[in-house]
Amino acid sequence: MRIVIKVGTSTLAHPTGRLNVRRVESLCRVMSDLKNAGHELVLVSSGAIGMGAGKLCLPGRPKDIPTKQAAAAVGQCELMYVYDKLFSEYNHTVAQLLLTGEDIAHPERRQNVENTLFRLLKLGALPVINENDTVATQELVIGDNDTLGAVVATAVRADLLIVLSDIDGLYTADPRTDKTATLIPVIPTITPDIEAMTGGAGTALGTGGMQTKLHAAKIATESGIPMVIANGNAPEILYDIVEGKPVGTRFEVKKS
Ligand code: GLU
Repeated sequence: MRIVIKVGTSTLAHPTGRLNVRRVESLCRVMSDLKNAGHELVLVSSGAIGMGAGKLCLPGRPKDIPTKQAAAAVGQCELMYVYDKLFSEYNHTVAQLLLTGEDIAHPERRQNVENTLFRLLKLGALPVINENDTVATQELVIGDNDTLGAVVATAVRADLLIVLSDIDGLYTADPRTDKTATLIPVIPTITPDIEAMTGGAGTALGTGGMQTKLHAAKIATESGIPMVIANGNAPEILYDIVEGKPVGTRFEVKKS
């Protein structure tokens, strides 16, 4: 299978913004194993701004654009250094792609991105993708990596998009505030009722939340790609997802 895996800042970093070493090590080990088993993988990784903020000892996720972009410039290096180091331990080669909204919106640039991605996969490399936060301007920003994950999944004609988050999946209500909330295992179609369930925001360091995940699910499923949201606390969950076991929330492709 060709699988795009998106990991959020809350999966990669501690609330301090510093790297969650144990989790990232396990993510890279499991992904390496899946690659060894013959799957083609693309990683869409957040964490640049969050980790940059941690490294620069900022008090939280920066709010103004220049500081965000500066934090991303620092954090992206840290991210790629860690991925390069950990995937190299398992003899896998990473490749960094930093995309902006323009690269997606402009057909010729989009085609170039697709060509590069297909060639990297053919060469056996593992593309690691983030938004180019240091230069992305507000008007052209993709904005969140859930959407970026779906755009990338569409570009590489993935068989599956996996979004790893700090929550088990989509709930009937916000489980942090509502004890009656239950996990929805399968969503055959995104109905207005489902949309109404996705209230809130992301975390202190990341940007996501359920709304962006639902938006990503729409893009992916409309392109014929199923999407699974699952908890990235234990990256071994990727094995279950790839084996088709019922974990997290799975958005099915509409059958026509
Ligand atoms: N591109 C941002 C970063 O690397 C993250 C965006 C997101 O979390 O959705 O920090």
